[in-house]
Order: sequence, then C-alpha cells, then structure tokens
Amino acid sequence: MKTVKTILEVRNQVQAWKKEGYSIALVPTMGYLHEGHASLIKRAASENEKVVVSIFVNPIQFGPGEDLDSYPRDLDRDTILCENAGANLIFTPEVSEMYYVDALTTVSVNGLTNGLCGAKRPGHFDGVCTVVSKLFNIVLPDKAYFGEKDAQQLAVIKRMAHDLNFPIEIIGCPIVREEDGLAKSSRNNYLSSKERQAALILHKSLTKGKELLSAGEKSAKLLKQIIKNELESEVLAKIDYIEVVDALSLTTIDIVDKPILVAIAVYIGKTRLIDNFIWESK
Ligand code: AMP
Repeated sequence: MKTVKTILEVRNQVQAWKKEGYSIALVPTMGYLHEGHASLIKRAASENEKVVVSIFVNPIQFGPGEDLDSYPRDLDRDTILCENAGANLIFTPEVSEMYYVDALTTVSVNGLTNGLCGAKRPGHFDGVCTVVSKLFNIVLPDKAYFGEKDAQQLAVIKRMAHDLNFPIEIIGCPIVREEDGLAKSSRNNYLSSKERQAALILHKSLTKGKELLSAGEKSAKLLKQIIKNELESEVLAKIDYIEVVDALSLTTIDIVDKPILVAIAVYIGKTRLIDNFIWESK
C-alpha cells in the first residue's frame, strides 16, 4: 500500500491500474479511522480490485465554531488500519493541494439538504458535495462507498452522482456500532468517560422508537415524542434535532406508511453526535 499527497500521483497510479483492467473503489474519509471506516474499506476491497482511501479533513464542510481545528488526526494509526482492511492507496492531500485559492465553483444539492443536518449546519453539504465531486474527478472510481451512519450525506451524494452523471456507483454500508450500541465515530474520541456513558442514550432512544414502530404505531409525532422523552432522561444530553422523514425525499411525514428515516443529532457536552435508523413499513 502506498500513501500519496498529490493529485498527480493519484491520477498516475489509477491510470496505471485502469490500463491493467482493474476496477477502482474510492472510500472518502476525514481520517482518525475506526471499524466503521474499516467496514467500508473491506466491502470496497471485496467488490473491487483496487481501493483508494482519501483522508482529508475538509475545511469547507465545517461551519464557524465547529471542530475543524480540534478534529482528531493520526495518520500512522490510519495507515495500519487501511492496510489491514485491504486498501491499496491512501490519498492524503494538504488543503492547498485540494483547493485553488481563487476557486469559484461550489457543488450544491437542493431540497434534500434543507432539513436534518443541512438545517443545523448551513453550508455543510455544499462543502461535502464540492469535495466529493473533486475526489470523484481526481480518482475516477467505478464505485464509491459511504456509511449509512451519515444517512443524509448518503442520500445527497447519491442524488448528486445521479444529477451530475458521475459514472460511479454509490454504495451505502450499514452503521458499525460499539458493543454497547454507540455508533462508532471519530468524534467519540472527544467524550469523557461520563459523557461516553451518557452517549448511549442516542442508541437507547432509537431502540425505543423502533419498539414503538414494531408494535404498529403509525404516528410520527408520537414516535418523536417517545424518542424525545428518552433523550431528555439523560441530563448530559441536549437535543439538536429529532426528525422522522421519508427515506427517499427526506421530507417530514406525519403517518408512517412508507420507508422512513428516523434521525437524531444530540449534543453530549460539547460533542455533537448523530445516529439514525431506516424503517421499512410493512
Ligand atoms: P468521516 O471520516 O466521519 O467523514 O466518515 C467517512 C465515511 O465513513 C462516511 O461515509 C461515514 O458515513 C462512514 N462512517 C463513519 N462512521 C461509520 C460507522 N460507525 N459505520 C459505518 N460507516 C461509518
């Protein structure tokens, strides 16, 4: 496995692989990798001959006051994880390599970005779509792998790839969790041990919601209320949002009569965590 920092090096390597007829996968990440990322890389390696992992803390997807400066980084550890998971190339560019200082272009997906994290983090998805478009054009993969942990991001990227005719298959991969249910996240690293315990409330509240749906409840309002009550039982938790939306359009729904996405964002202390599940109505 090689690690490169320039666009030219990625292009040369991928071009050489394509000449050999190899299929190419891309797994975009911001580093500080964990088993969630490893699951994407392993899946990519099982379905493609060559896997490129990008590690880039993308400044333009962070808003003012967010954690860009404190975002955890550990390239040595990430390198071992990538190698073990079956990656062939790490692309870890500097910000100056990715962004021209005089760049005028932003990629924006409308509609799907209005609610959920899009409403709470203005400009976030423009930053995500712009960097992912650039990575697609740099790596030219056949398939790209994203986690369902970021459900809105996955929906937005799928739509962007469709709307802009990227000849790339977008593949969603299931959420990987700690044994106690907490969704793996690089941001879990910020949590004190007390906060780590408190963070379990995200998964617990969603589980309560799932139980309600399993019992046949169809009211989105009631579903949200049950999740809210559970989250509020944890003093260290501060709700950012609880949303029940159509799984495809991401628009809010009142009655659960089609596949839905139940998504929450919760502050545990200063750390903002997200979690979700998809419910396919019977
Ligand atoms: P990030 O480094 O947080 O930007 O994440 C890079 C990719 O890994 C995204 O597609 C995430 O959705 C995915 N990912 C992050 N955490 C998990 C997880 N716990 N399970 C599955 N995928 C994940």
